[in-house]
Amino acid sequence: MEKIYYNNPLLKRSSELRKDKNFLKGILDNEDVNFIPMRDDENYFISGKKEIKPLILKRQELELYTKDINLDKMIFLGKINEKFYFSINIKSKIDKNNLEIDQGDIITDQLRNVIGSLTELDSSYLALAKGMIFWHKKNKFCGVCGSKTKAKEAGFVLKCVNKNCNESHFPRTDPAIITLVSNKDKVLLARSSRFPQKMYSTLAGFVEPGESLELALKREVYEEVGVNVNKIEYFQSQPWPFPASLMLGFFAETEDTDLHVDKDEIEDANWFDINQLKDLTHPDITDGFKLPRFDSIARRLVNDWIRRHEKK
Ligand SMILES: [Zn+2]
Repeated sequence: MEKIYYNNPLLKRSSELRKDKNFLKGILDNEDVNFIPMRDDENYFISGKKEIKPLILKRQELELYTKDINLDKMIFLGKINEKFYFSINIKSKIDKNNLEIDQGDIITDQLRNVIGSLTELDSSYLALAKGMIFWHKKNKFCGVCGSKTKAKEAGFVLKCVNKNCNESHFPRTDPAIITLVSNKDKVLLARSSRFPQKMYSTLAGFVEPGESLELALKREVYEEVGVNVNKIEYFQSQPWPFPASLMLGFFAETEDTDLHVDKDEIEDANWFDINQLKDLTHPDITDGFKLPRFDSIARRLVNDWIRRHEKK
């Protein structure tokens, strides 16, 4: 089974507890809670010689950096193995000397940059913390009336402070389709100029208001490479909090092999046959191009297509 990052069933969100202020306050004040500090959109890690792991603070450690250890400032992430997890954005930089860390340094980094060193479970609460802190940062003011917002329900609601408005804002995630298009034993991969050198990936794009996933898929593929697809089959989804997407993976087939590439969106697109894709033991394919990284649903689409194709 392939690893799936940025979410994990062992993280129990316990959403039924979010409205129970007294219960959560009791936990914050009395229990041995794990705090996940954030520095805006970067997570904190302990970077050692051999490994990188998440920085998890205890209450007395967190108190060195913030006085805001209360439900108004905290985001309740949930429970892992009966232990409660909260996240908070820390303004001052966390310092190794205050924390008595034996080995390694405290660093902040983008989650994706260190994902290869993390477990799937670690990646799940770090991604949730990152996504929630990003949403809070973008919603300090009410989108309806422009007044300030205030966190409610353990950080999962931002409510307008203007009593005449009273609007509640909820965390947003943007659906995007991602699709591996195939024609017999070839798959269609493309690259954007924003990609790492030589990397080719599956096609993707955001779903627009009033649009089904299937029609978004057909539209994106046609816009980007001028190909009509049929036989659309759902694969899997993956949260992609970079900054706020949910990727919905599909397989699609086409009879068209002539590509008409939209050069505004795509630098190059091409058909790749199974032999070019096959050597999954290497993270990088040597045949002049690279596949997407192991933590992406794009890579899982390619890997799964190869496995299915070989069975035929
Ligand atoms: Zn308002």
